[in-house]
Amino acid sequence: MTDHAHAAPDIIEPMVRALGLKAAEGGEFFGSRDGQPLVLAVIGWDPPAVLFKVRVNTTANTPVPLPKALTDLAGTRVVNVSVENGYGWLTFYDLRRVSAQDVLPRLDDLLSALRSQGLNLAPQCVSCGRGGLEDVTYRDGSVTWMCSDCLAKKEREKEIADEQRELRAPPWGIFLPLAVVGSALCWALVWFLFDLLFVVLKTDEISAPGEVMVLAAVVVALPMGISVGYLTRKSRISFVLPAHVAAPLLMLGAAIVGEGLYLSYVIFRKVGILQLAVAIRALPAVFKAYPEGMAGLKVMLLVMTMLVSFGVAKITKPPLKLKI
Ligand SMILES: [Zn+2]
Repeated sequence: MTDHAHAAPDIIEPMVRALGLKAAEGGEFFGSRDGQPLVLAVIGWDPPAVLFKVRVNTTANTPVPLPKALTDLAGTRVVNVSVENGYGWLTFYDLRRVSAQDVLPRLDDLLSALRSQGLNLAPQCVSCGRGGLEDVTYRDGSVTWMCSDCLAKKEREKEIADEQRELRAPPWGIFLPLAVVGSALCWALVWFLFDLLFVVLKTDEISAPGEVMVLAAVVVALPMGISVGYLTRKSRISFVLPAHVAAPLLMLGAAIVGEGLYLSYVIFRKVGILQLAVAIRALPAVFKAYPEGMAGLKVMLLVMTMLVSFGVAKITKPPLKLKI
């Protein structure tokens, strides 16, 4: 541990205070300087690095002739300046390599460069032009001048758009039963093919390196776990159980039925009776009688499919960010 860890707040906190910025989520601070809405984002602690985003009145990638103070600093490779996507960007990649007193004057250089190019924003609502706004508005990483009415309207529009997107999305969840049945069949088929391998190779024992077995199990587990996990997430089952709980349980059920199917086939071949229920009832006894390696393989495959389905069901899409 070096002294960087506490050096960073020593540099960043006074900067935030000097600019009178407010804290937002995710290590961002927002406010304005000389009427220009800006965000200060802490993008690193070791080395301490910050990014200033100054809102400009265009979304075009306008090249801005930079004051010499900025270009000189940019030449040192610790600073980057650009104007794009509606913002003037000023990044300090390593605050240890510029003196703290240097940062705000460079920000002011950027602000005056933007102003001289007519890229500055007037302190009035960018949507309706209403003046007399007291403070800038910050939402999800964007900052601008916006009145509360226009902000509320934007938020309503976004809610409606979100709902419509939800309605337009195909109801993939209805295919969940298919995925569960498919996984059960897949499970049975895998072990049927595994048996076949012994017949084809005319052997009683297949020895393969552990890595190969794990890899094979992953290849089999992925399609089962992904389809069940994804469709569980999309299904209405989440009203009853969280998707990441339901998916591994469904996977376990599919494996039990799959194993029952496989066993039915084995029994059928031996005694000519085909009864899934009988086979499933016989499972615990049969499982105990499996050679250790075989039981281990089955448990490994089961755990992998359950883990994959859990992981896929757990992924949550971040909400769409509000662009202001
Ligand atoms: Zn407005």
